[in-house]
Order: sequence, then structure tokens, then C-alpha cells
Amino acid sequence: HHLAELVARAARSTPDLPAVVDVTSGVTLTWAKFDAAVNAEAGRLREAGAGAGERVLVRLGNSAAFCVSVLGALRAGAVSVPFGPVAVARELEIVLDDCRPAVVVAAEGDDAAHRCGPPRGAALLPPPDLRPDPATPAVDAVGGGEDLALLIYTSGTTGSPRGVQLTHRAVLANREQTAALRPAPVLPVDRVLLSIPLFHVFGLAAGLLQACWAGATTVLTERFDPAHVADVLVRERVSGMAGVPSMFRALLELPPEELRAATAGVRLCTSGGAPLPAQWLDEFRTVTGLPIYEGYGLTEAGPVLTMNEIGGPPKPGSVGRPLPGVELRLVDREGRPIEVQHEPDPEDIDEDISDPAHDTGLVAVRGPNLFSGYWPDGEGGPDADGWFRTADVGFLDHDGDLHLVDRSSDLVIVNGFNVYPREVENVLAELSAVAEAAVVGVPDENTGEAVKAVLVRAEGAELTKDDVRAHCTERLARFKVPSVIEFTDALPRTPTGKVARRQLAGRS
Ligand code: ATP
Repeated sequence: HHLAELVARAARSTPDLPAVVDVTSGVTLTWAKFDAAVNAEAGRLREAGAGAGERVLVRLGNSAAFCVSVLGALRAGAVSVPFGPVAVARELEIVLDDCRPAVVVAAEGDDAAHRCGPPRGAALLPPPDLRPDPATPAVDAVGGGEDLALLIYTSGTTGSPRGVQLTHRAVLANREQTAALRPAPVLPVDRVLLSIPLFHVFGLAAGLLQACWAGATTVLTERFDPAHVADVLVRERVSGMAGVPSMFRALLELPPEELRAATAGVRLCTSGGAPLPAQWLDEFRTVTGLPIYEGYGLTEAGPVLTMNEIGGPPKPGSVGRPLPGVELRLVDREGRPIEVQHEPDPEDIDEDISDPAHDTGLVAVRGPNLFSGYWPDGEGGPDADGWFRTADVGFLDHDGDLHLVDRSSDLVIVNGFNVYPREVENVLAELSAVAEAAVVGVPDENTGEAVKAVLVRAEGAELTKDDVRAHCTERLARFKVPSVIEFTDALPRTPTGKVARRQLAGRS
């Protein structure tokens, strides 16, 4: 029941197989070398003050060094706090003040970390040694089980960042639940490309740690650039790709023949973290022949909750069924389970997806993978019966598959009427001249809030505000039709692919 044991286990069974391929630095670590580096890092961190339960903030980009520091901290019995190198000094300071780490690991040229780290009494260390002296004494893994393993700050798309406490047991439970899916999403022979940030729970737990669980190889790139990624897919013989929707969309900007050739050796694509528009799924499949299997999760769940059946027919708009061992139900704002009165007719599924009138509720979940509240006191965790209510609104279709309607916090209220941005976004996406669309609420003197649409035109396409208004008026009730329409070159997104809604609403 110790996350660092995943590395030790693979090092015992397949010492010479590659564990981590760091494309940026050109470093490949076999399981034996990875384990040795983790061991040395555990010793170094402990010496610098990272005892049991102390926090180690790792501020490095996707790299072998990141993996070694995070797992080294765990082996030392400390709590790993993965943190993005893109965050600016102010954001770093908020998190440092909140979690008060004993050690900060940061790149030499990281000015913000150098400014914020030492004054608070934290030791500031450079990235770890990836080729430690073979004579380094072995460090016994400390803690595990119910001890905190990861403290992950949510990106704060809905408010200020909060530290989610995940124990070794919870993170391992989610790896086991994911591995229990049939067919399994990660096989020992897989070479999984992770271009998503490892400082986020999807990259770290569902990506890196899931690969460690399976003994598969993780291929890391530091940034996501479609042409670079296409090259890496071929060069590194990648067989599995875990991404956020905007990455699949960016890959579609490559010439189709190029993308087809690049993905020829890929067996599985999975997407999560944000809704995957049906159109992108279709286009990707048309070009590459590969379906994208969508999953849904959140930091508080370690993170995976539901997944579409791999190998089954893709079901656009659905995020699939709960993983084995995850219970899911829909509840109202008071937490009372919603009686499902109406089973949407299979024929109507498309309409039901964005129809909040059909037995939608807040998604509540229970399972051994759930977090143990927010740092530092553990408040806000699952209730006495083990249920945790998310902010996601959804409904279950006749197959028991979950469809997410929207986040309750994104709801726009116009004259007392509820508008789910995603319904309007789906209508806007029907226009072929629209490449991307986001809808947010903005304050309005007369109606309380008004619907604002921000659109990216498809390349070379012409589209006026009147075209948009005419299209929406035909398909949406009047209160849902955007009254403010803006065009932009690209939607602002968080590093994990979510649309930065507060920024669009001018509330950043
Ligand atoms: P904060 O909670 O502070 O806003 P965050 O949004 O980054 O931070 P995460 O845990 O990273 O928090 O994201 C979880 C959320 O992402 C879910 O609650 C859900 O709204 C959204 N999400 C994840 N997967 C999907 C998906 N497949 N489709 C739609 N939404 C998804």
C-alpha cells in the first residue's frame, strides 16, 4: 500500500525495460535506473528536511526529473505537491503559504521559486540526479496506506485553488479500479505518450502512476505542439495517447495524411478533463481510424470516475459508466437522491444531452478512491456515508451511461431562467464556420445575467454576428440566444485544456 512500491515492483520484475522516456532531455530510465534514482532522491529529500508527513513541492515540467522527485518524496514518507512551472510567483506564493513545504524542488533558472522558496524556511533544491552513485544506500519506504501521498491544487477555474488530499490508499484504489476495466486501458507492452501536464492529477495519477501500475513505458514531452507530437508518436513507437480534448483538436490541424501516418502505431486514445465535442471525435476518427475513449473524473476522486467501454462503439456526449468499485448517483442541491422518472428514449439521446429538463442532477460518488478532504483540516470531504457531491450536472441514459450537462457553477441565469452554456455551445458548434465556441454569463442590468458567446472562426470561413444570431434563434429559446457575441483567434485555456471561463467573462 505504498505508491513508491509500484516502481520497486517493476524494477524487480522488469529491471531492463524502459520506464520513462524523457523526449526533451533525451534521457531514458529503465525500471532499475528509475528505482535507483527514486531511492537516491528519497535520501536527498529526507536529508533536506522532508520527514514523514512534510510537504515537498515539485515545480518542474514534464520530465524524468519530475517523476523521480515526486516518487522520491513519497518513498521518504513525505507528501508530494506537484506544481506547474507555468504558474507565476503570485500563484506559487499562495500555494507555498498554504502548504508550507519543507522542501521545494525547482529548476536552476526558476526565478519565482528562488524568490519565494527560501524566505519561508523551505530548502530549495535543484532537480535530482538521474544517475546516482550505485553505492547510494537503500532507503526504506516510509508510511503508505492512510498517510497522505499527494496534495494537488485544483486549477481554480471555479474559485481559489484548493489543496486536495489524496492518501496512498485512495490513489492506489483508483489505479486498481482503472486496471480492472476490460479491456484494460494500459498494458505492460504499452508506450504511453503524456503531453498533458504531470502536475495535474490526470497526467500524474491516471497517466504516470497508471503506467507504473501496469509496468508500461511513459513517454514524456514538455509541451504540446502538434508537429512535434506527431514526430514523437512515430519515433518513440507510441501505442497509447492520453490527452485533453484540445490536444486532439490541435492534432487535427496537421495535414490529414501526416496525422494518419503519425498515429498508425497507436492502439488507444483516451480523453478526459473537459468535454470532448462530438465533432472532434468524428473528425479524428475519420482521419486516423481511431476512436477516442472519453473518461470523466476530478482531482477529488483520484481522478477517474467513469470511462467509455474500450473497444465498444463510441457514444458521443457520454462519459461512460462508473469504474468497478465506484458508486454514482444523481442528487439535488440538498444531497437527496433524484428519482429517475423518465428514461430517455434511445432515439432522443442527442436531444437529451443538453436538455436539463430530463432528470438531471448533481453527480455524487462513493468509493475507496475518494480524497480525504481539503488541506489542511480535511474539511469538505465525503460525508458520513462516504458520498461526495461534485459540481457536475448530468443524467444517466437507458444504458446507465453518464452524460454531463454542465458544471453547476457555470450556469447562467437570465431573467430567472437557467441556461447551461454547453447546450448553447453545442448549437454554435453546428455551424461549420465555427471552429470553437464558448459561452459564459456576463452581468446585465435588465436580466441579471446575459449570455455571451465567444467564437473562433474556422480557417478561411466568413461568419457575422447576424449569422450566429439567426442560427441560434432558430434552435434555442429566446433567453438562451447569446446577446453578446465576440470573435477571437483562440479560446483561452488552462494548461489542462479547460476553457478559462472567468477570463472570458472578464472576471479574471
Ligand atoms: P477547480 O475545481 O478549482 O475549478 P479544476 O476544474 O481544474 O479546478 P479538476 O479536478 O482538474 O478541477 O477538474 C475536474 C472537472 O473537470 C470535473 O468536475 C468536470 O467538470 C470536468 N471534467 C473532467 N472530465 C470531463 C469530461 N470528460 N467531460 C466534461 N467535463 C469533464
